[in-house]
Amino acid sequence: MTRLTLKGLAKRYAGAGQAALHGLDLTVASGSLTALLGPSGSGKTTTMKLIAGLIAPDAGDIRLDDRSIRDLPPERRGVAMVFQNPLLFPHLTVAGNVGFGLRMRGLAPDRIAASVAAMLARVRLSDLADRRPAQLSGGQAQRVALARALVLRPEVLLLDEPLSSLDATLRDEMRGLIRDLQRETGITTLVVTHDQAEAVALADRIALLLDGRLVQHDRPEAFYRRPASEAVARFFGGVNFLPGKARGGRFDCALGALDLAPGLPEGPGLLTIRPEAIRLGPGPNPLPARVQAVTFLGTQTRVDLGVEGFALQALVAPEAGLPLSPGQEVTVSLPPSALWLLPRPEGAA
Ligand code: ADP
Ligand code: MG
Repeated sequence: MTRLTLKGLAKRYAGAGQAALHGLDLTVASGSLTALLGPSGSGKTTTMKLIAGLIAPDAGDIRLDDRSIRDLPPERRGVAMVFQNPLLFPHLTVAGNVGFGLRMRGLAPDRIAASVAAMLARVRLSDLADRRPAQLSGGQAQRVALARALVLRPEVLLLDEPLSSLDATLRDEMRGLIRDLQRETGITTLVVTHDQAEAVALADRIALLLDGRLVQHDRPEAFYRRPASEAVARFFGGVNFLPGKARGGRFDCALGALDLAPGLPEGPGLLTIRPEAIRLGPGPNPLPARVQAVTFLGTQTRVDLGVEGFALQALVAPEAGLPLSPGQEVTVSLPPSALWLLPRPEGAA
């Protein structure tokens, strides 16, 4: 198994005002399934193309364990990439597409046939071995592309938005398949997605890119419990932010002095609490609130609250939200263990 390290990787496209990547440092642990997450235009595909060798960096290095692959041609890097659009050869069968790279390597036909058959069985496409790409559904074509990459036994597998063109059911199936194959093979895998829920469901680790910069690299749950900045918290659905100052285990802000869990930094900061962590009813840090709006969202109910002239948003179980109506006075509580402090945004007093 192989560790992938990006060091100071920078790229500005010719004619572009802004760099697409500003000196990216990222270590993808050997054997991990890491999601490279970020909104459209944040530099995800650029990062993948640099690793695969399809474009060259302006600065920085790309290493597999301790070897630099920065100056190797794509086919000698030990890296396989699957694109969002499967890009299969239309004139070859499914088996022909999967065996293509092995034929390029000059393997004997019987060895190629055996490897291809085994790989097709793994992605559950054995029945479709003789079909042409035009006769496949989007999900099947995506599985052929995955098989074509895996059959080469790459040290690092790169998947660029492999799920975004699939409908919800197929996406679940494909996500499960990627997870299973990754666990079975242990191939260090980097999967691009712009969808935070997808990243959380799929990956052991998430690397979040915003504007061509790595802003947090962590376990999925940390992005909810310990976001590194307001921008990270917002990307993961955070909506409640209160400026103030932490002192002696309490946070002084517009809502009064709130009890904090031990271990948080002292001084000016931005308090945040996940909408799903706010409790309706008495409890720790109780506050009088007025219901502004109640919105049924299916699996959850969103309750917009006014607290001391401040807007807070809570997400509660549907039953908990149903008897509420706008204008009603309620008590909300903010469990200290759910309160997290972020650095104050720049320019704030
Ligand atoms: P993502 O995959 O996260 O959506 P990309 O890596 O494709 O982002 O793009 C990052 C930035 O680089 C964007 O601002 C994009 O417009 C720009 N970009 C991407 N490819 C090119 C290119 N070939 N020429 C000029 N600019 C590009
Ligand atoms: Mg992209």
